[in-house]
Amino acid sequence: MDFDLSPEVTALRDRVRDFIRREVLPLEPREDEHDGLPPDLLADVRRKARAAGVWAPQLPRDYGGLGLETVALCVLFEEAGASPLGPLALHCAAPDEGNMQLLLRAATPAQKARYLEPLARGDCRSCFAMTEPAPGAGSDPTMLRTRAERRGDRWVIDGRKWFTSGAMGAAFAVVAAVTDPAAPPRQGATLFLVDAGTPGFEVLRAIPVMGTGGPGGHCELQFTACAVGDEQLLGRVGEGFKLMQARLGPARLTHCMRWLGAANRAVDIARKYVLERQAFGKTLSEHQAVQWMFADSALDLHASRLMTLHAACLLEKGGAARQETSMCKVFVAEAVNRVIDRCVQVCGSLGYSRDLLLERLYRDARAFRIYDGPSEVHRMVIARHVLKPSTR
Ligand SMILES: Cc1cc2nc3c(=O)[nH]c(=O)nc-3n(C[C@H](O)[C@H](O)[C@H](O)COP(=O)(O)OP(=O)(O)OC[C@H]3O[C@@H](n4cnc5c(N)ncnc54)[C@H](O)[C@@H]3O)c2cc1C
Repeated sequence: MDFDLSPEVTALRDRVRDFIRREVLPLEPREDEHDGLPPDLLADVRRKARAAGVWAPQLPRDYGGLGLETVALCVLFEEAGASPLGPLALHCAAPDEGNMQLLLRAATPAQKARYLEPLARGDCRSCFAMTEPAPGAGSDPTMLRTRAERRGDRWVIDGRKWFTSGAMGAAFAVVAAVTDPAAPPRQGATLFLVDAGTPGFEVLRAIPVMGTGGPGGHCELQFTACAVGDEQLLGRVGEGFKLMQARLGPARLTHCMRWLGAANRAVDIARKYVLERQAFGKTLSEHQAVQWMFADSALDLHASRLMTLHAACLLEKGGAARQETSMCKVFVAEAVNRVIDRCVQVCGSLGYSRDLLLERLYRDARAFRIYDGPSEVHRMVIARHVLKPSTR
């Protein structure tokens, strides 16, 4: 095991850190919590990201990215995550980042030209629609209710989706639907690329949420006799679950990488406060109970980072790393929640206020334990593996 970063990755990490500090942090006060950054400011910071050589670290060079492998992404995404705007500025934010990976893997050359190329350039946004209101798919994706039925030479999609991040204003949606209800649940679903504006595809609303919506909100969608052609099948008929798994595994890990950046930022904010604020004749940082909170956060972050790097290393070597990505998803989501909670605590009433970014980080972090599989579901997957008689 070699934990040293190459000189190239170290230099890139420093470049991203400097870019976030110089170009991204000053934009934070300009962001509206629900509408995001004004489009001209976003376009401008993205132009600067390209010029600074930090644009789309995850994309192949042919698509204008840095062409980095997964371990290097851990380091860069963590730096980008220091600001809620960082991943957007660098074009490595969810859900587009995961969708670009999926398109690279499963799209035909014609689909790459039509969907991936504009997405990679940052000319449009996308969304991924799997989750449905009850009684449809949520924690259990095999409960998918949305149907795509073959009628003549078209596929006709009917169903309701919700919590589709980024759907408002997205150019297209990747939609999971059942194409063969008679097949075993994991073989009967298929993914479709559905363009915004297709008759029968409606974005009903952005659902009001506890945290920030990100561009395009978290939306409820309706598909009513929405007809698409074979050229909009992503992958083969019946391959939907396989592709969703292929998308979600690495996407869980890239979430963990960005979340670490948010936790680092929270610690930076809290550190500044406790080093200056006095109570009972000394700074807060001189009180042992406060010191221990920072020590516990350092432990949480170190363990989270190592778990993420390890899972990244396995993915980079071509493994599926299902157990390891599930462990990362649970541990990092919960650790980051603990870290941000401690930071709010040591900042006292100011930590609870909107004068600091902490309050927003705290609200956003609550969703980490729910989306892309709630902690309980990942624990179920981990336990299944551990309890197999042949595990050791
Ligand atoms: C901010 C945000 C963004 C999202 N973005 C997207 C998106 O872009 N696309 C998309 O398709 N979905 C998205 N989702 C949906 C998300 O992936 C689902 O919320 C998640 O998979 C859980 O499904 P559910 O909400 O239907 O929970 P349910 O299935 O109703 O489960 C509720 C709770 O039950 C518990 N539970 C479930 N199963 C078990 C079990 N086996 N054992 C013990 N307890 C269990 C868990 O605590 C779980 O939180 C997003 C959600 C949020 C909050």
